[in-house]
Amino acid sequence: MAKQDLYPWTEEAFDAFFSSKSRQAHAYLLAGQSGLGKTVFAEQLVKTMLCQTQEDDACGLCQSCKLLESGSHPDLHVLQSEKRTLEVSDLFANFAPRYLEDESKRKRRKKPSAVIAIDQVRGVIPDINTRPHLSACRIIIFNTAEDLNINAANSLLKSLEEPPSECYFLLISHEPGRLMPTLRSRCNRIDFRTPDKAQALKWLNNQLPGRLDAADLLDRATGIPLRALALADGVLNLDESRIFQVMLQLANRQIDPVTAAAELIKKTELVEILTPVQVMISNIIRLKTAARNNSVIKKDDEKVLIDIGKRLNFKQLYTFLDDLSASKQLAGGPLDDTLALENGLISWQRMFS
Ligand SMILES: [Zn+2]
Repeated sequence: MAKQDLYPWTEEAFDAFFSSKSRQAHAYLLAGQSGLGKTVFAEQLVKTMLCQTQEDDACGLCQSCKLLESGSHPDLHVLQSEKRTLEVSDLFANFAPRYLEDESKRKRRKKPSAVIAIDQVRGVIPDINTRPHLSACRIIIFNTAEDLNINAANSLLKSLEEPPSECYFLLISHEPGRLMPTLRSRCNRIDFRTPDKAQALKWLNNQLPGRLDAADLLDRATGIPLRALALADGVLNLDESRIFQVMLQLANRQIDPVTAAAELIKKTELVEILTPVQVMISNIIRLKTAARNNSVIKKDDEKVLIDIGKRLNFKQLYTFLDDLSASKQLAGGPLDDTLALENGLISWQRMFS
């Protein structure tokens, strides 16, 4: 039941998890770009680990399976930001409100909070120091772990040093590089990578019967299947090719950063703009190191990216990548997103002077 819901490119990792050797750790980091199926993977792990049949697949029939379905299982604890809880409706969103701030406090803020705060971590600790109520273990989800602010991360670190028994921590992260190294090192890491193109395309074609542009969608989504699907559904309305074009125009001084920022931010949110830019910079770095194993970059784009790479050094590229991550962390916060984007684009253009 549960396993059928997994994306095909994550099945192998799922089976590996349930092989006896890897189950000895009590903390796991599910790491990889957004759109590779980490959340669904985590949901299936939770269902299977908590199922009272104790098989390698959830039965869907026992009390545990039913309580998960109804959003009230006592052994699942979810920490995620208020923002995520409001924006994404999935299994975890049903469990998250328990550790969010009181509604009255939340309503006083202008924007929903995008961080996991220390009070959330403190809130969960007394609950996980007792035996599981129903299942063989308790599971605590951090979704996504890069949303932990520094105090919350430190508090979690203490729990990971002396984990309660019968307790598993699952940290989901789109950007594991932003986690504290000490936090990362305490977790068993499960990496999610862009699947093989043929496998991704086969899956995408099944999702989009009758559409002839699946290969093109996959290209535009830099090989990330769920992103390609979102593009097809029009959920992702951002025009990634326009963002790509703007970055080139800036490099060639054909557009000024303030105008470019205004145009982009009008159509989509800062985070949605920064993600394809991060992918673009990562691709430039990859091509510059001559590691051309990324078959998903279109030939025309590849040439352009190689040319850009020749005009910049590695230090500039890595510094810019770090700046992008920092901006992403602040996005949606009290600072002005437009201003943050302008600053980013200005420093990008300056690198080409
Ligand atoms: Zn069950």
